Amino acid sequence: MNRCPECDSKEQGKEFQISVEPVPGSPWNDVLKAVSCSECGHLIPAHIWEHWNGLSHKQAKIEWTEKYRAKALSTPNEDVDYVDESGRPIDPKSIDLDAATFADEYGRPCHKNGELIMNFVSEFAAIEIGENLLRAGKLSDVVTHCTRYLEIYNVPEFWRLLGVAHGSLGDPTSARFSFLSALSLDSSDAISLGNYVTACFDLGDKKSALESLERFFNQTSDAGKQIILDALFEAIKSGLVTRKDLPPAIQILLREVK
Ligand SMILES: [Zn+2]
Repeated sequence: MNRCPECDSKEQGKEFQISVEPVPGSPWNDVLKAVSCSECGHLIPAHIWEHWNGLSHKQAKIEWTEKYRAKALSTPNEDVDYVDESGRPIDPKSIDLDAATFADEYGRPCHKNGELIMNFVSEFAAIEIGENLLRAGKLSDVVTHCTRYLEIYNVPEFWRLLGVAHGSLGDPTSARFSFLSALSLDSSDAISLGNYVTACFDLGDKKSALESLERFFNQTSDAGKQIILDALFEAIKSGLVTRKDLPPAIQILLREVK
């Protein structure tokens, strides 16, 4: 019989695989599977919810209350998403929070109080965190995050995020360096080329902008070329460069598309 030992609900609950680091003496150490009650929201160890080994509902209620619920935190931090190892949400009311894995709203690993943990996550997860931070406008955090991860993953994505953040923070010199670093790792990266050229124009460095166009423009995809042409249109409109300054092949393209 499946039944919630907290609120007696017989509704179907949602099942979670949970993964926690062992905490000395915590009964939750051995819980691998748990069910989240759709009525009261508590996360209940599966063996109690499902009354394994002929456990009566009365016994289940006692074991739940005395052994497991006592170890749960009653006032979870609302700023923290509580997730299992696969990133699925866990109801914090019912789990031993000293043992669970947490992430803040941007995906950064943190303690239950939201304090960041300096463990490194995978390259893929770290890029996603950088994008989340940028989307939220946390520019200084993007700089800190990407600078830190570039020490272990020297990939263009972090340089590109860093460049956008520096540019938005009003630091075109750092932005230019970041976009050039991205380009040196991926010469077909049109977004970085467009941004690099713009940063050069902003700094009055027409020569570097034109050199990079000569060198990289033809390596970008058609969609990429359009991104760069758009950036050049903006620069022309702002009076940072004239059409005549640009390489002849690009002048022709500009005439064709607009
Ligand atoms: Zn319940």
